[in-house]
Amino acid sequence: MLARFTPRSRRETRATVLENLLRSGGAFRPTIARETNLTEASVSRILTELRNENLIQETRQSAPYPGGPTALVTLSNNVALAGIELSNSRLSFGIGDPSGALNYVERLPASPHLDQGEFERLFAESVRTMRDWSAHRGTVIRQAALSIPGYGRAAGNPIYPWDMDRLRNFLADTLDGVPVALTNSVIAQAAFHRYSNTTKYPVSGDHLFLFVGHGVAGVIVDESAPVDAFSAVEIGHMVIERDGLPCRCGHKGCVEAYTSLRAIAKIIGVADSAVLSRGDSFIETLVLDQGVHDTLRERLFTLGLGLGNALNLHPLSSVVISGWPSLMPEEDRKAITEGLNDSLLGGFDESRLALSFIAPSIGNDPRAALYYAAYCFVRGGGLDAKADPRAALEEIA
Ligand SMILES: [Zn+2]
Repeated sequence: MLARFTPRSRRETRATVLENLLRSGGAFRPTIARETNLTEASVSRILTELRNENLIQETRQSAPYPGGPTALVTLSNNVALAGIELSNSRLSFGIGDPSGALNYVERLPASPHLDQGEFERLFAESVRTMRDWSAHRGTVIRQAALSIPGYGRAAGNPIYPWDMDRLRNFLADTLDGVPVALTNSVIAQAAFHRYSNTTKYPVSGDHLFLFVGHGVAGVIVDESAPVDAFSAVEIGHMVIERDGLPCRCGHKGCVEAYTSLRAIAKIIGVADSAVLSRGDSFIETLVLDQGVHDTLRERLFTLGLGLGNALNLHPLSSVVISGWPSLMPEEDRKAITEGLNDSLLGGFDESRLALSFIAPSIGNDPRAALYYAAYCFVRGGGLDAKADPRAALEEIA
């Protein structure tokens, strides 16, 4: 459910309507009014304004009931957004629209230990190519978003221990006026699932979203809160085995060292790049012998142990898992509940903890960052503060 509040400024009202459209993927006027708590008259006024600015489009559809509305309102795919992700050992750049369609993608290999200077070099090179592409088509990017694993920790990012002021200045200089938002990779993943409308999300209330990709991270999803208010939980760096497998954070025995996609790729004997190119079908296409199969089950058990420990610290009654475990047969996924049973206070009880799985969308970077950019764009009401002094004045008032 969306937060029920009465929007005040013009920017807020526009943001509420635009966010509703991003979330629904398209709606009829009466539904928008009902879901945003605005009158149909205000919705009409805002939609006229948004249509004049080419931010929305209306398509005639057959009325859902006699005398019902006939124009389906969607966000305009003329709004160009840029998603940039540092994930899966690569730096991915994409230009797309609020529907999640990517019209341009470039992916450059990036070391998991990428230093700031090397990042800047790769980034500047990609921006040049991206700028040529967009200039050629007359595309103006309205909002960019960059997602980085481990970003946003008050104590600094142990995965990419970069100077954040230098990063912000670099982005502002390099992107040359395009507004850019920085976020944690798992928060971008949460934005992807909230806004992509591609798969039916299994949970509607507050829950822990656990992403098991090249990194392993959780995010506490509060359904009434905006995406950037979510808190990221670094479950991946919970040490589960003293003197265990080395982790990219510098410690040994972290959950990530056992359960990340990289760890799994090693077990099944497939290169990271092959996993990415095969996408969500990578496990189905493999013939796993008993030994490999048992090891994967053991890793799922470890994931369950870590998850139970995380839930002991922050109790929640629902968990959604996205990642390679979602691709495993249900019988194997029971190893997660066995691990949970061994660490969660009171043991695992399905009447107290709902566990759901969703498709991981392996190798689809930078789509998550693109959705985060779309979220940032709508949250700002589709207004550029510098370009529209009226909005800026209203914000101050
Ligand atoms: Zn670690």
